[in-house]
Amino acid sequence: SYDTQLPVPDNPKEVHDLSDEFNHLLNQLNTQAIRDHQFVSDASHELRTPLTAIRGHIKLIDRHGKTNPEIIPKSLKFIDSESLRMQKMVESLLQLSRMDHATTDKKDIDLSQLIKNTLDDYENEITQKITRKIPDHIFSYINDDNFKQIIIALLNNASKYSDSNGTIVISIEKSDSIRIKIADNGMGIPDTEKPEIFERFYRVDKARSQDIPGTGLGLSIVKKLVELNNGIIFVKDNIPKGSIFIIELPINNH
Ligand code: ADP
Repeated sequence: SYDTQLPVPDNPKEVHDLSDEFNHLLNQLNTQAIRDHQFVSDASHELRTPLTAIRGHIKLIDRHGKTNPEIIPKSLKFIDSESLRMQKMVESLLQLSRMDHATTDKKDIDLSQLIKNTLDDYENEITQKITRKIPDHIFSYINDDNFKQIIIALLNNASKYSDSNGTIVISIEKSDSIRIKIADNGMGIPDTEKPEIFERFYRVDKARSQDIPGTGLGLSIVKKLVELNNGIIFVKDNIPKGSIFIIELPINNH
């Protein structure tokens, strides 16, 4: 048998260490398997909800469309928006799964310029006023596409979870690290929920109850993208209300 070919350590302590190591590995594998299982189960559930609703409306049109044609436009609109939601969710899920073992191509990028360009392109998509506090030429070794996506996702959230006439402040500064901040004066995030919002599919109840559209995947993608670029992201309360999302990058990111 194979057993006889394994080197047997004479020192019992070593045997103990080996089994510790083995247990540790096994635990890690288990945790990963549990996480994967949870992920597949969450994803299926999240996709099934809009799918069930879509099928409901198709049946409705099928049964009552002839006699009550006035229901058709409303149902079609619903089917259209829910299928779009599913499409976005599938795209986000694909991006998340692609990122699981990914690395990213980095270059020296002028982050100040990148943020300005992104704002120029995106500013008109939202109703809130955006204030810029962006000194010239702060460079970092990052992936520019990743950062465009990060900035747009955070601006999009700042806009979604604020009044339409609110203000968003975006700033970048460099001291012992580089910090990008996106601050809004919207509904804010309770302390107990702050660690949760970066988890896949997590949405604060208030967002759901106010019917703000979303999948709960945006921030988990943002977090992964930030980490791929050696950064960290966290959220704080804004004063007097709202949230500040902060990305911190090391000065020497090579
Ligand atoms: P989505 O916006 O699609 O729900 P995200 O992963 O981007 O998903 O965000 C997760 C949750 O975090 C949101 O549902 C919302 O409850 C909360 N959130 C995110 N950004 C903000 C913000 N700027 N202000 C208040 N709540 C926010």
